[in-house]
Amino acid sequence: MKLDVDVLRYLSKDDFRVLTAVEMGMKNHEIVPTELIDRIAHLKHGGTYKVLKNLLKHKLLHHDSSKYDGFRLTYLGYDFLAIKTMVNKGVFVAVGRQIGVGKESDIFEVAREDGTVLAMKLHRLGRVSFRAVKSKRDYLKHRNSYNWLYLSRLAALKEYAFMKALEEHGFPVPNAVEHNRHCVVMSLVQGYPLVQVKQLQNPEMVFERIVGLVVRLAEHGLIHCDFNEFNIMIDDDEKVTVIDFPQMVSVSHRNAQMYFDRDIECIFKFFRKRFNLSLQESRDDIDGSDGEEDEGERPCFSTIDKSSGFLDKELAASGFTRKDEEDVQKFIEGNAEEDIHSDDQGTELGDVKDDHSLQLLKQFHQYEGQETMEKDRNSEASESSEFETQDAS
Ligand code: ADP
Ligand code: MG
Repeated sequence: MKLDVDVLRYLSKDDFRVLTAVEMGMKNHEIVPTELIDRIAHLKHGGTYKVLKNLLKHKLLHHDSSKYDGFRLTYLGYDFLAIKTMVNKGVFVAVGRQIGVGKESDIFEVAREDGTVLAMKLHRLGRVSFRAVKSKRDYLKHRNSYNWLYLSRLAALKEYAFMKALEEHGFPVPNAVEHNRHCVVMSLVQGYPLVQVKQLQNPEMVFERIVGLVVRLAEHGLIHCDFNEFNIMIDDDEKVTVIDFPQMVSVSHRNAQMYFDRDIECIFKFFRKRFNLSLQESRDDIDGSDGEEDEGERPCFSTIDKSSGFLDKELAASGFTRKDEEDVQKFIEGNAEEDIHSDDQGTELGDVKDDHSLQLLKQFHQYEGQETMEKDRNSEASESSEFETQDAS
């Protein structure tokens, strides 16, 4: 995705005010009625309409008149709100090249005033697929829980909170610098994802170190759940850094054992294939083992001492609550289940018009809309204080 940040320069205070008004409206609406945007933005002399046209031209908003006249933020619009806030806070001054495209994120280099380069991850939870909504009826009951803005923001908050906590416990992770909306800024990791590394001076040692990390995470009460060659970075000194945390779970999760074994299996499989390490083929080989970790022996989830878990206390300190965790997890697991039970192609948010599940979602919002218009009228004032409006003024 191209992020033309030059546009930022041309956007006025009013532009951001209206953009923020659309963001607020999206708390209750998939498509925010134009009239509601005007009421929230409250620009003089019908100024909102002119501004909306400008934002549309720059693709920061999407116009939809299929059910009623309204707008929604595009990813670009949401990106700009987050970037503007970060710039206002002095986190960075410029956005550079894109360095990564994940399944559900875009990663860019950003520069601080002193020239230090950092990494900015923009979360796109829900970009890959809207399929989960079909099977997860319970989502529809909590409309706020099914909203890509909300989910992407939660994913960013979770990633930030975990990165910070892990860093404080001495894990090799990027330094978590700041988060806002769906955006996390962290230190730039020198090196390459393991998947790109064809040769290592000392593959056994790197392997041991990586497996050791999975075990140490579990001792701290955590499982990464996506611990593979794409999320492990290696530098020229063969130092390991782990990235990508939105899907992490507690060791008390009902599927903890399975997630743990899967993380371990990924590493075993990769090192066996790529670096020809002679490692056990499957877990069955170690049933009845004494749990000692000789080289190539699989750590056993049930024998790990997990008493020093820190999930709840420390994550709460970053503002990440148990309810947040439930919401993110429900979505991530919903998607994973769908991936198993269906081989449909996912749908990008940019061209969701014909997607059956989005139609369902729209109808739902139509129905909800009638109820919430009334609520909007009453809660505009409280909403604006609840939302992050500091950057709109
Ligand atoms: P996703 O959740 O979409 O998989 P990741 O956090 O794994 O996103 O990032 C995708 C890619 O971006 C990584 O494989 C890596 O190449 C690059 N990347 C992510 N974070 C950093 C960072 N802090 N420093 C350098 N590269 C990074
Ligand atoms: Mg990744």
